[in-house]
Amino acid sequence: MNFHVCTLFPEMIEQGCQTSILGRASKNGLIQIETTNIRDFSTNKHMKVDDYPYGGGAGMVMQAEPVYAACEYAKQKLGEKTRVIYLTPQGNVFHQKMAEDFAKEESLIFLCGHYEGIDERVLEEVVTDYVSIGDYVLTGGELPAMVMIDAIARLVPGVLNNDVSADIESFHDNLLEYPQYTRPPVWHDKEVPEVLLSGHHARIEEWRYQCSLERTAKWRPDLLEKHKSK
Ligand code: SAM
Repeated sequence: MNFHVCTLFPEMIEQGCQTSILGRASKNGLIQIETTNIRDFSTNKHMKVDDYPYGGGAGMVMQAEPVYAACEYAKQKLGEKTRVIYLTPQGNVFHQKMAEDFAKEESLIFLCGHYEGIDERVLEEVVTDYVSIGDYVLTGGELPAMVMIDAIARLVPGVLNNDVSADIESFHDNLLEYPQYTRPPVWHDKEVPEVLLSGHHARIEEWRYQCSLERTAKWRPDLLEKHKSK
C-alpha cells in the first residue's frame, strides 16, 4: 500500500515512519511511505508558501497554488482517483472502522496543513476526505498523518507478524481488549490470573471475553451499548 504525504516538513514523516513495525514493513516492500515538500512548488522567489489572511486576523494561511501543485504531483504518481485526506481539527474524528475502510485502498494521499490552515479554494478542488484525530488543535497535520498511517498500515496483510492480532484488539466488535500478562508469573506479589496458566483454551476465551465486557463497561460504556445493539 502506498502512503504519500504532502507537507512542509517531510523530515518529520520520514523520521517518524522509519522505525519499528512501519520501518520493517517499508523495508519489506509491504508499504511505501513517500513525501512531497509543498515548498518545492512555491511560485515565490523566496520559496514562501503562506500569506496573510484576507479579512485580517492572526497567523498565516498556506496558499492555494503550491498545495494544488503538490497534490497534483502526488496524484500523477499514484493515480488521478487516489483519495486525498486533509488532516484538520474540523474533520470527521478518526476511528478504527475508518482505518479499516482506508486500508482497502491501494494508495492514499495525506495533505498536512500548518499555521492557520490552507486556502479554502484548493481544499474544495482536491480534498476527498476531511479527517481529525481528536478535538484539540495541533500545530500541523504531520502528527495526525502519522497517526493515521500507523493505524492503517498495521491492517495491511503481513505488516503485523501475527495476522490475527488486529482482529482481536480493542475496538474490534466495539469492545476493549482484555488485560495482557507475560512472564514472570508473580511480580510485586501480583499473580497472573490462574486461568491463563491452565492451558484450557475455551476457559481462557470465556475469561477474556468477560474481562473485555467489564473493561468496556467501566471505561467506554458508549462502546458497550454499540456492542450490545449488534
Ligand atoms: N485554524 C484551524 C482551525 O481552527 O480549524 C487550525 C489550524 S492548525 C493550527 C494547523 C494545521 O494542523 C491544520 O491545518 C491541520 O492540518 C493540523 N491539525 C491541527 N489539529 C488537528 C487535528 N486535531 N486533527 C487533524 N489535523 C490537525
